[in-house]
Amino acid sequence: MTTKSHLFYQTDSRRPVLAEARGIYMWDVDGKRYIDGSSGAMVSNIGHSSPRVLEAMRRQMEKSTFGYRLHFETEPSEMLATKVAKLTPDGMEKVFFVSGGSEAVESAIKIARQYAVTIGQSSRWKVISRTPSYHGSTLGALALTSYTPLTLPFEPMMQVMPKIPAPRAYLDGLELDDPATGAHYAAMLEAKILEEGPETVLAFIHEPVGGASTGALVPPEGYMQAVRAICNRYGVLLIHDEVMSGGGRTGRFLGADHWGVAPDIIAISKGFGAGYAPLGAMIAHDRIVDPVLKAGGFMHGHTYAGNPLACAAGLAVLEEIEAGAMMENAAETGDLLKSRLGALMQRYPFIGDVRGKGLLLAFELVEDRQTMRPLPKALNAYSELVELAYQEGLIIYSRRTRDGTEGDHFLVCPPMITNAEQVDEIMVMLTSALDRFAEKVEPAMKQ
Ligand code: PMP
Repeated sequence: MTTKSHLFYQTDSRRPVLAEARGIYMWDVDGKRYIDGSSGAMVSNIGHSSPRVLEAMRRQMEKSTFGYRLHFETEPSEMLATKVAKLTPDGMEKVFFVSGGSEAVESAIKIARQYAVTIGQSSRWKVISRTPSYHGSTLGALALTSYTPLTLPFEPMMQVMPKIPAPRAYLDGLELDDPATGAHYAAMLEAKILEEGPETVLAFIHEPVGGASTGALVPPEGYMQAVRAICNRYGVLLIHDEVMSGGGRTGRFLGADHWGVAPDIIAISKGFGAGYAPLGAMIAHDRIVDPVLKAGGFMHGHTYAGNPLACAAGLAVLEEIEAGAMMENAAETGDLLKSRLGALMQRYPFIGDVRGKGLLLAFELVEDRQTMRPLPKALNAYSELVELAYQEGLIIYSRRTRDGTEGDHFLVCPPMITNAEQVDEIMVMLTSALDRFAEKVEPAMKQ
């Protein structure tokens, strides 16, 4: 499309115009077909154009598309809240709907703070998070984010919060399945709480299975449990940001379900609305919500919260996941795709790590596997390889992996309906893109 556009997002670079999307495939207006190998931004978990979801939305649209939450309860929001409460750990019975991930994280921070104030602990306000991390783009969620290109320009405008390193065992030469590794990284949380003063620390937030910022980081053995125990020891609330890892993509409804660890507060979005509607939720334990409600209510809310159309879509998404045994498929296809990605390490010396759970998978490129030194920055691998894959018709998602300024990782996260044949298709396209990338990278590495 060459006509002038009045739209802008992060940059003014233009993309082909989307014509149609079905299942794991998308077509542009010129008829070129793409595999949605990253489910957008790890959103379209059940694939595109699900008849069940479209039908549920159509039925809801014919009844009502909006009922303001202070005027009406709506059936879809009640039903979805009930379903979500069943899918989350015991005692997490209250669901607060929002329209996206940043709003879910903001809501999590704010209920944590209001709870502390309500129970007479107003000295607690700091929320510790990890480096690198991404928790959203609004100023509150951004203060918890650790990714310099996104945060630095805005620092004077926000209360920058304390950070601890994410448990990137593969970078530190530590074994993922050694409990000492989990204990090592969890000890950093305890040290940070003590350094800040436990009476000032409100919460710790992290992603159970890392998303865009760490590239599908899987926590080391014992880490999840140790973090829970440390939070308990110091009266610090544990917030799980499951915006990306929640919704079933890892093979369980919540990423943390793999370790059986229950937080105090959960933020979910992305795969929850699965691209059919802007939808997210903050779910908190009754012991947090009840005192806040008793003391006069949660002082927070967004106009579109609990929108019946979005909730009807969310409900149908969950039904579709169950009906299609999609979590089971995500686990099975995820294992297959992960082993196929792992096999690429033999062919390409510049693939340094392959990681993830279910269909939340990533690989990282390095110059040297021994030291995990990143590729030369000037290669711009994170955008080059994505572009080459795009030319092949495969969409993948990348980020600078270290502090946001160097290192390159790539998320390969197709929808949870992907089958073994489609894994083959993905691998053919990815291998072509990597072959073309290798032609660029090898001379650069010899220099
Ligand atoms: N938290 C995490 C872990 C995320 O991945 C994202 C989105 N990438 C967000 C929060 C923010 O979500 P949204 O873009 O919907 O505001």
